[in-house]
Amino acid sequence: MGFLISMGQPLSSAGIKFDTASFLNGKLPVTNIVFNDRDDKIQFAIIADINGGNIPGILEDAREKLNKLQPPFVMSVGDLIDGYTRDSALAEKQWIQFNTQVQLLKMPFFYVSGNHDVSNDFLKQQWNKRFGRTYYNFLYKNALFLILDTEDGKTDGISKLQSDYIAAAIANHKDVRWTFVFMHRPLWSYGNEAGYEKIESALKGRNYTVFSGHHHNYLFGTKDGKKHFVLATTGGGTNGRGAKFGEFHHLTWVTLADKEPEIINISLDGLLQEDIVSTGIYPQIQALRTGKWLHANPIISANRFTRNASLILRFNNPTNTLLTVSGKMPVGQYWQCTTPEISVNVPANSTVDKLVDFESSNKNLPLDLDKLSDIECKLTGTYQLNGQAYQLDAATRLKVDWTRVIPVYKTNSVIINESVKETVITVDRPEYIEEDWDWHGKDDALLKFRLQHDKSRLYVEVLVKDDKYQLGGELHDQLQLFFQKPGEKNVSSITINPSLTSQDVVTTIQGFTSQSEWLNKNEWLLKINLPLQYITDMGRLRFNISYKDVDDVSNTKPSIIFWKPRWDVSADYPGSGSFILKQ
Ligand SMILES: [Zn+2]
Repeated sequence: MGFLISMGQPLSSAGIKFDTASFLNGKLPVTNIVFNDRDDKIQFAIIADINGGNIPGILEDAREKLNKLQPPFVMSVGDLIDGYTRDSALAEKQWIQFNTQVQLLKMPFFYVSGNHDVSNDFLKQQWNKRFGRTYYNFLYKNALFLILDTEDGKTDGISKLQSDYIAAAIANHKDVRWTFVFMHRPLWSYGNEAGYEKIESALKGRNYTVFSGHHHNYLFGTKDGKKHFVLATTGGGTNGRGAKFGEFHHLTWVTLADKEPEIINISLDGLLQEDIVSTGIYPQIQALRTGKWLHANPIISANRFTRNASLILRFNNPTNTLLTVSGKMPVGQYWQCTTPEISVNVPANSTVDKLVDFESSNKNLPLDLDKLSDIECKLTGTYQLNGQAYQLDAATRLKVDWTRVIPVYKTNSVIINESVKETVITVDRPEYIEEDWDWHGKDDALLKFRLQHDKSRLYVEVLVKDDKYQLGGELHDQLQLFFQKPGEKNVSSITINPSLTSQDVVTTIQGFTSQSEWLNKNEWLLKINLPLQYITDMGRLRFNISYKDVDDVSNTKPSIIFWKPRWDVSADYPGSGSFILKQ
């Protein structure tokens, strides 16, 4: 149980000291649990099968990682070398290879023999000459370690000599904290335990855990309530289809601190070097992570229906290594890209433009730009760094816009009238969203709008659909309309809070009128009109609309959805939201 410590109360571990200046209000920002470093803690790692279809490099990797993890010692479960030979030069070479690795460990390594290591009399003699016994035991911090030789019987298994030896070791250590058993083949799991049953009965009544290998396929089970492990591989042959299927290279990490051992497997893939991402490759990593190397120039057209549309894809490589870009252009039902595959090299610190064309998939019909908007272009960027490929996809939504025609005003045609649907613009996928995490799609907030005109005035109808209105208070829902004469910087805007009276209006536009009504509790219809002279030039204007959707007043950063990108941010593209008055 932890408790906050107070001044003057020592932390209960040796070797830590806070000076009095570290305290504030008599407190330290640390729980006073005892440091997890008691003297009687036992901790060790186990490596699994190394041979039987050895995969080069894995043992070396494990050795390097063990030296980072620093267990006090390392155990094994056999099949250390390929063995199965009577050629002394070959056996010599294999042992030198293996020993070189374990001698590089900063901690002791305990040999356990497997069928590959002691598969014939010659190899057994070799073992005895190099390492002494094949079965042995030791006591560490009052835990008993029993190392068996499962290739010791007349055929295979445990000899009587061995079972007597082990049974004696068990009998001589009655009061140990725990007993750990290591053997190569999981003899307990076979119908014929081949001599192990005698050891098993000697272990009765004590706490123990068994580790084995041989099958290259991880398996955990219990027998007589005791944990029995078959470890996978640490370099041994494997299909490597993943830990879920028991096919993985790993270390097993064992800690005995309290009553029972804690056991966890560490996949070698899960141990990552400290410089896995370092400053040297960070520019490339960031370029790939942000995906900002990919940019699609907007497609702006005079008309919605055209023969074809050209798009400039801009690839910007901000790093000092080559960026390769590859992938397929999107495909649609109504249109196709004349360059379906992209493969471009972008030299260091440079930009490459690639022109791609879209055309109607039906040669008899024009290309409908409305079908082309809302399309995502996804390509893959790749850097070769430190001898390996680093690649991520980047995506950009195509910005497609054309000059829309504003029809002549008819009194009976309002936005909710089905017959005028053609001229209604629905903002169900905003091109720009501030605080987009707070907008949950068109069921959260949706705008529809329609523009009309007569000789002197522009008529704007807006239908707001909001699942939850926030009308009063400091933070509330808010509609904004933006107008601009083409080619001019000055922006006129109208800010309106949805309400029954629509009295909360802020604008500098002269001669502006408005009326609004609630169609139901979720739909608010606004109708405004204003003189054309302030907002159009030669019958043209630029228009945008936004809605601040406050769902929860405690959230001080509500989302604001925009039909076209805000005109005052870099996402803006010239010509978006262009309109021309129908004569
Ligand atoms: Zn084996």
